[in-house]
Order: sequence, then C-alpha cells, then structure tokens
Amino acid sequence: MPKTLEHKVAIVTGAGSGIGRAIALHLARAGAAVVVTDVDDAGGEATVVAIRADDGRARYVHADTARAGDSEALVAATVEAFGGLHIAINNAGIAGPAEPVGAYPVEAWDRVLAVNLSGVFYGMRYQIPAMLHAGGGAIVNIASILGQVGFRGASAYVAAKHGVIGLTQNAALEYGPQKIRVNAVAPGFIMTPMLERNLTADALSGLAALHALGRLGQPDEVAALVTWLVSDRASFVTGGCYPVDGGYLAQ
Ligand code: NAD
Repeated sequence: MPKTLEHKVAIVTGAGSGIGRAIALHLARAGAAVVVTDVDDAGGEATVVAIRADDGRARYVHADTARAGDSEALVAATVEAFGGLHIAINNAGIAGPAEPVGAYPVEAWDRVLAVNLSGVFYGMRYQIPAMLHAGGGAIVNIASILGQVGFRGASAYVAAKHGVIGLTQNAALEYGPQKIRVNAVAPGFIMTPMLERNLTADALSGLAALHALGRLGQPDEVAALVTWLVSDRASFVTGGCYPVDGGYLAQ
C-alpha cells in the first residue's frame, strides 16, 4: 500500500472490532501512527497487536465516546504519545434494539443517541482544537445508508446517523478555511460482529439482497474509502457523505 499518511497521527474510535479495526489497520499500513480506542479493551489491544505485527505504529487508549471527558483525555493522550493529531475517524457505534417508534425503549434511545451522535460531537469537540494546533487535518465520521433513509425498527439509529451527516456538514463549513476537511462515509450492510450478533443467517441473506451487488460489504471495502478520504489525494473533498453501499441507495 502506498505510504500516503506518513508522519500523520490518527485516532480511530471503536477500533476494537469490525469496520473500526479495518480502518485502523489500513491507516497504519498507509504510514500513520494510530491511536486505537474502544470500550472493549481486549478488542482494542488485539487491533494494536495486529497493527504491530504488520510493522505499523499503534497504541490503545480506553475511551467511551458517550463521555465528553473521555474524548478530551483521548486527544490529550494522543498528543502526548505521538506529538500531535492530524486524522480522526469517529466510527464507534451501537445498533440498539429493534422496536417501532411507539414502543422504542426510552433508555435505549438515549444510549444510541449518546454513543452514535453525541459521541461524534464530543470527538470533534476535542479533535478540532488539536488539529488547528497542527495546522489542519482530516476527519471522517462513520454514518450509514440509514443516515439518508429510514429502516423499520431502527428509529434511534436512523435519527442518530441522519444527525451525524448534518453535524459533518456543519463542521466542514466552520473549519474549511482552517484546512480541516470533514466528511462522512455511509456504509451499506457490512459483515461485522454488529450484524452477526443481531441477525440470523436468513436475515443476513435477506439484507444482502437489498444491495445492487447482491451481497454484504466487507470492512476492508469501507476502510479503503476512508483511507483515501483522509489522504491528500482528497484535498478538495469536504462536507460530503460518501456511500460505500453496494448500490443500496440506488433504488
Ligand atoms: P462492531 O460492533 O463490530 O464494532 C463497533 C465497535 O465500537 C466495538 O468494538 C465496540 O466495543 C465499540 N463501541 C461501542 N460503543 C462504544 C463507545 N461508547 N465508546 C467507544 N467504543 C464503543 O460494529 P461495526 O459494524 O464495525 O460498526 C462500526 C460503525 O459502522 C458504527 O458506527 C456503525 O453504526 C457503522 N455502520 C455499520 C454498518 C454495518 O452493517 N456493520 C453499516 C453502516 C454503518
């Protein structure tokens, strides 16, 4: 892989599993020093081991995206460990229960919004000042196809992901002049523990059929787009939301 991110320092939230782990590995292969962060310490440490086995630079920091103080401490730990911050991937997310709006558990609504939407705000709230200090940067927030359309039973997730796209646009407008690019990526259904935990084999093949390509995506396919977006090759790309969805949104 070309070393497009040499001398860059990156944070990836939710990097102990699935899409976040793939992104952390890709960024490290492109030459970035990566701070892997999660609430699952075993998963996060395993990602660091995989990056180091691949000759990459990484360290693990425990941080809950739903706690603003954790996001602040994470950025401070990153700057202390690697001398600055240039790239942030706000990826951590949870699915929440499957219930219609009229029966959706209120505590689950609050938790999904806290992790999936407030978590992205808390992340950028502390990442951006560090990037300003570094003279610029690039942020990718992991939204979803469900940030653009609804999905029965997933109101909290859908609302949070719609919010992530709006928040991404706002940050892009506010910080473009200071050389911070902010984009969102909208994966279709990707084969990760998030899906495997919650769905039967029959449900997974039903979901696969909703994509023009007739299959689920792989974490590496999301990571490839993210790695391009944070590189200088995407120097005129900001404020957008880019699907990597096998054609899900084309219908
Ligand atoms: P995953 O469950 O495999 O991984 C999510 C990781 O986030 C886990 O390691 C988990 O411990 C961590 N996490 C959960 N809550 C956290 C918190 N409060 N603070 C820090 N870390 C936390 O899921 P995934 O499929 O890899 O999902 C990653 C992102 O991609 C999520 O934002 C998800 O909404 C989004 N996404 C996934 C799919 C899909 O089909 N898998 C589709 C579209 C978008």
